Amino acid sequence: MEMPVPSAAVLSRKARVVAALQEVLPSDAVIHDTRETRAYECDALTAYRCPPMVAVLPTTTQEVSDVLRICHAMDVPVVPRGSGTSLAGGALPTADCVILGVARMNDVIETDYENRIIRVQTGRTNLSVTGAVEEDGFFYAPDPSSQLACAIAGNIAMNSGGAHCLKYGVTTNNLMGVTMVMMDGAVVEIGGGHLDAGGLDLLGLICGSEGQLGIVTEATLRILPKPEGARPVLMGFDDNEVAGACVSDIIKAGVLPVAIEFMDRPCIEATEAFAKAGYPMCEALLIVEVEGSDAEIDHQLSLIKEIAQRHNPVELRESTSAEESAKIWLGRKSAFGAMGQINDYMCLDGTIPVSSLPMVLRRIGEMSQEYGLKVGNVFHAGDGNMHPLILFDANKPGDLELCEAFGADILRLCVEVGGCLTGEHGVGIEKRDLMDVQYAPADLDAQMAVKDVFDPAWLLNPAKVFPLHVSQSRREAARVAA
Ligand SMILES: Cc1cc2nc3c(=O)[nH]c(=O)nc-3n(C[C@H](O)[C@H](O)[C@H](O)COP(=O)(O)OP(=O)(O)OC[C@H]3O[C@@H](n4cnc5c(N)ncnc54)[C@H](O)[C@@H]3O)c2cc1C
Repeated sequence: MEMPVPSAAVLSRKARVVAALQEVLPSDAVIHDTRETRAYECDALTAYRCPPMVAVLPTTTQEVSDVLRICHAMDVPVVPRGSGTSLAGGALPTADCVILGVARMNDVIETDYENRIIRVQTGRTNLSVTGAVEEDGFFYAPDPSSQLACAIAGNIAMNSGGAHCLKYGVTTNNLMGVTMVMMDGAVVEIGGGHLDAGGLDLLGLICGSEGQLGIVTEATLRILPKPEGARPVLMGFDDNEVAGACVSDIIKAGVLPVAIEFMDRPCIEATEAFAKAGYPMCEALLIVEVEGSDAEIDHQLSLIKEIAQRHNPVELRESTSAEESAKIWLGRKSAFGAMGQINDYMCLDGTIPVSSLPMVLRRIGEMSQEYGLKVGNVFHAGDGNMHPLILFDANKPGDLELCEAFGADILRLCVEVGGCLTGEHGVGIEKRDLMDVQYAPADLDAQMAVKDVFDPAWLLNPAKVFPLHVSQSRREAARVAA
């Protein structure tokens, strides 16, 4: 993975940068000892590592603004960080950067049940947003599998999704406003506690912008009343393609489950050994969940089971209790961890039209043979968001490169069938060099022109999202101007 050469000039200013940061932050919030900065050397894409020059942990928007003002004046790149669970290398540092972590910014600022909103500092973890309102019968809908750890900051930057986003939408559909600090330290308010905003819709631009445009410090989120009830049904099939066709038929029929999750045999086997969720040993498994009153659930599940029956399932098990539902979900939520017990893995994230599922699954199986690397598929099938997990051995020379080539071919296939390079994990560095597979030069130019406006010095989250050769002239021009 190519990264820009760290600036010797910036590295030579380290002591001055640290001293300036210590003037605006408590001393324990400025981490500069090389033994300690190592804690920030990677995110969940652990194949790539690089300790930052400095890491800072502010607690207020004002402190974030002070840090950015200093870095801007001293021409120091800044990499924003939430909880570091990005699977795309979005929070990977450069050796000459300041990591700005929002982990200490985790307060609830306001809850407003009448208007169904909550305002939080963005270092708050996803699950603890629901934690703050569930006793009063509310929840925050986007539910990445990493929700125990990942922060709202990263969710906004990556426009994260999750199993239940089929019905409730992803982060962008549940975000109403943000406070954002620009690279020069200016603090701006975008959106708010109301449904629409006058002027340009900048909120849509910020959500999913991967730390390229500013640092989001506070967010107003939509919260929803908890549904009356929810019930999953577990379906087993003896063929991946048949399971894919079943998903396609459920969507086509116009039933709207809250989630449709898919796992293939390698994932089922790993998960059973790890979480003992009671899954059937078959080629493919679907978890389909619906919500509502008992009568609504019965009605929807009867339609869904009827569709499933047409595909000759080897197992069709409707949950009969809260314990059984929790066990069904336990397996799915443990799938990534379970695969990690077998070997190193790279988790891909591409989106395809749901109707292409059977064909894409078949092609991934064929590619797995061609590359000689095992792959497990676990994903949000209802909205076509695939997560092939390619197993490789990081200690075996050449295996990582083989895995990267295999992953790139899968993502190319997603684009080829009319899908997208990413579904919810973002581009980061992982898919950076594939952006020109999906976008023409003029498309990328339009995206980079937006960055020029928000971050003219190109200091925020360097070397991510845009292929280096495509952004080179802009980055160089920004350095000359600095
Ligand atoms: C086991 C596992 C399961 C996962 N499951 C899912 C899933 O189901 N759905 C899903 O969408 N993702 C999933 N992910 C990926 C990851 O959890 C999400 O991308 C998450 O939103 C990252 O949040 P974070 O706080 O850890 O962000 P980080 O990893 O710290 O950063 C992610 C990106 O956000 C930027 N950023 C961080 N803070 C800010 C800020 N304050 N302002 C601006 N930019 C900022 C960073 O620069 C980086 O580009 C999973 C990851 C793991 C490890």
